[in-house]
Order: sequence, then C-alpha cells, then structure tokens
Amino acid sequence: MNVEQKLSANKFNVDEGHPHILIHLEKLDDEAKRILTVVCPAGLYTLNEKGQLAFEVAGCLECGTCRVAMAHLSGAMDWEHPRASFGVQFRCG
Ligand code: SF4
Repeated sequence: MNVEQKLSANKFNVDEGHPHILIHLEKLDDEAKRILTVVCPAGLYTLNEKGQLAFEVAGCLECGTCRVAMAHLSGAMDWEHPRASFGVQFRCG
C-alpha cells in the first residue's frame, strides 16, 4: 500500500463554515508560500501560474507542520484543532 492509498483510507468530517486553519495571505512572502507547498504532507497548499497560493482545508491531517513552518511569521496563520467530532479520522488499513 503506497502513501496515497493510505491517505485515501482516512475519513474527514469537514466543519463547513468553520475552517480550523485560516491563512492571512498579506503576511506571506513568496518564500513562505513556496515553503507551505513543500511541507504539507497532504499537499493542500498549491501555487498557480501567477504565484497565488490556494489552500484546501478539507483534507487536513492536523499534523501542525504548516503552523510550525510559519511560526516565524507573526499573524500569518490562525491554527486550532477542529471542533469536537470534526476533522480527520485515521484509518490504518
Ligand atoms: S496541519 Fe498538516 S496536513 Fe493540515 S494543512 Fe497543515 S501541514 Fe497540511
């Protein structure tokens, strides 16, 4: 079983209208945006051809890597765990 297959076994209960991660784009420079596209294990940060950052919270693994990676940029991101009963449910095969 490869990584993509393992990730696809997880279940997500998305808290529509209450994202647990908010990105403040005005605080991110180009390098910060590039870093986010590299560090997220779920590949939820992407850059388009204009260098604009897109983020999809629905597949978040709640690992906190993006939060740590942006810790040096005050106010760049609001990160909290999803509310009870929402978020990822890990399935191990
Ligand atoms: S918490 Fe982890 S999985 Fe979720 S967006 Fe950040 S890096 Fe990606």
